[in-house]
Amino acid sequence: MDTNNTKPWDAARRDSRRNSGIEAYAVPYAEQRKYIGTDVYRGGTVRMDIGGLHPAKFHAELMRVALASGVAVHGRTPVTSIERDGSGFRVVTSAGALEARQVLVCTNGYTDGVVPFLRRRLVPVRSRIIATEELAPEVMARLMPKRMMITENREVGFYYRPSPDGKRILLGGRDGSRVGDPVAPKLLLRRGLVNLFPELETVRLSHSWFGNVAMNRDMIPRIFEKDGIVYATGFCGSGVVWAPWIGMHAAHKLMGHEGRARSAFDFRPPAFIPFYRGNPWFMPAFIQGYRMRDRIAMWRASR
Ligand SMILES: Cc1cc2nc3c(=O)[nH]c(=O)nc-3n(C[C@H](O)[C@H](O)[C@H](O)COP(=O)(O)OP(=O)(O)OC[C@H]3O[C@@H](n4cnc5c(N)ncnc54)[C@H](O)[C@@H]3O)c2cc1C
Repeated sequence: MDTNNTKPWDAARRDSRRNSGIEAYAVPYAEQRKYIGTDVYRGGTVRMDIGGLHPAKFHAELMRVALASGVAVHGRTPVTSIERDGSGFRVVTSAGALEARQVLVCTNGYTDGVVPFLRRRLVPVRSRIIATEELAPEVMARLMPKRMMITENREVGFYYRPSPDGKRILLGGRDGSRVGDPVAPKLLLRRGLVNLFPELETVRLSHSWFGNVAMNRDMIPRIFEKDGIVYATGFCGSGVVWAPWIGMHAAHKLMGHEGRARSAFDFRPPAFIPFYRGNPWFMPAFIQGYRMRDRIAMWRASR
């Protein structure tokens, strides 16, 4: 029994570090403002093993290292078919055909009809981000005092962070739109931002962008092999973290490095999705349905 003044959440923090090596702890509502300048939540959890990076710099450095080690990169050169050819493959691209001993498919949320097997198993979902104009340093210090990456545990929650230079807030979320660049999802994110931080009511947005992430039925990323082709995919919105890790294991698998290739994520393909051939017609309704579940859960919690 704790005889000193230790609070229960301090004991939980110690246990978590001892048992999992991860420093994680609860933040009670009374201490929430030390972490985030909003009263919208009723406390939260901090995990010190999760952080942020500057994705463009990360990408540039990956590219530099790959090119320096002799990799040939051909952008804007879509593959139009992959066929078995003897013991290897014939890969046809918009710039011509080539013979390949091995093929690794990493098309994730942009998977097209070239690999119909995978297309029937991944649902592309738009993820969208807005960036505020530069905010005064004292506003940033008040709203995001710890400069942490933040996410919500709602079904369709927001994720947000200070920009890498610490001058703006970037806020993102899933998006039910499928074509073009409609304004409604941007406005929804803006409303979410203002709901969290009412003092940003009149703030201007400097940027907004979106891309596809790939969901699968069990929401587990994986490596798998089908008809000799290796796939590394299904990152469910967390591919900045997952893709380099899973990609490394997939590369070891192709190179036949038994021990280093071994991964718990190398297992069966994702389950196929009934009545689905790559056109996610149901996404707008799904996103609305999940938002409704969130509203019901919030209503229940507030009673
Ligand atoms: C707005 C937004 C915010 C995100 N935030 C986070 C985050 O905070 N943390 C995180 O971990 N992840 C985040 N993600 C997810 C992350 O960006 C993706 O999961 C990650 O980029 C997946 O990497 P990938 O290499 O597997 O696939 P992608 O980066 O999607 O690349 C797939 C590539 O395959 C190519 N391709 C498709 N078909 C063909 C073809 N036939 N021939 C040739 N090339 C083809 C495409 O052109 C594309 O370049 C975010 C994504 C978005 C859009």
